Amino acid sequence: MKAVVLSQANQIEVRQVPTPTHIKEGELIADVKYVGVCKTDQQLTATGLEQECILGHEVVCSVPNQTGYFALNNEISCGKCSYCLEGLTSHCLNLRELGVNEDGGYAQKMCVPQNALHSFNFPKPVLGVLIEPLSCAVHGIGRILASLKLLSSAKPKTLIIGGGISGTLITYLLHNSSEYQGQISLYDITPEPLHWLEKLGIERVEKPEPDQYHLVIECSGSSGGLQMALDLVRKGGAVCAYGVPKPDLALPITPHELFMREITLLTSFAGATDSTINTAIAYLQKDQGFFEQLLGKFISLEKLPTELTNWSPQPGTRTVVDLEA
Ligand SMILES: [Zn+2]
Ligand SMILES: [Zn+2]
Repeated sequence: MKAVVLSQANQIEVRQVPTPTHIKEGELIADVKYVGVCKTDQQLTATGLEQECILGHEVVCSVPNQTGYFALNNEISCGKCSYCLEGLTSHCLNLRELGVNEDGGYAQKMCVPQNALHSFNFPKPVLGVLIEPLSCAVHGIGRILASLKLLSSAKPKTLIIGGGISGTLITYLLHNSSEYQGQISLYDITPEPLHWLEKLGIERVEKPEPDQYHLVIECSGSSGGLQMALDLVRKGGAVCAYGVPKPDLALPITPHELFMREITLLTSFAGATDSTINTAIAYLQKDQGFFEQLLGKFISLEKLPTELTNWSPQPGTRTVVDLEA
């Protein structure tokens, strides 16, 4: 079968590889249909992995002898360790992450545990590539909402940094949360228009002022984003690092300053579980028109290596690999 294989840093190519055949109990061979191209794929391509790997973790597939489409929960947890028993499956001590440290979806077929597949039924099945990122955002919003009671205002002012897919999904969920009564503004470094913002009626700020925001959610994952969030947040406020910080980035604030300004620092890691995936599917089902505008370029598997080494998504959208293109 055809697959895109990452062999080492920036060495990624389309290749013929053996179709997976060694199925263990509870696994099956799925036919990959669409895969969302995530910033994580670009970062893994730039740094390389210890062994050859097929990336791709935002997977829509079909299954032999079954109708319809399925989304993959690529976080395969053991269900037995102390973290799994507390429901923190993303922190499973035996976690397998398909498309991250084991073969994923940038291939015609992939081997998946049956119980990692979630069926959905949208008129446009390609929307299913948003299920995984949206389920991680559902997890993130849960943590953000839980922090609201620490804030001094019941109607907080929130700034979201970054209008890429992560920032978009977090903005959407906060905007739609009945537990959030405050204002939302968004900052993005690019001048490109973000049409979805207007649809939600969210204000875009070009130059956010310090001391205005009770809550700042950093969704860009850029080195400057976390610095900006910590500079801008009010005393007694909270900063959430939602975008994945670069591995070598030091916290751009001293513990003394954090303490004196009484800032709560919050993080959110991964978080695709049966429950967050079901919530994500329900949102997508209800509001397909909104999510459709987040789909960007459609590319073939052949074009993927170039895409991952020359990162260029249309701003605020997800690029999709269409296996039939
Ligand atoms: Zn992703
Ligand atoms: Zn576990």
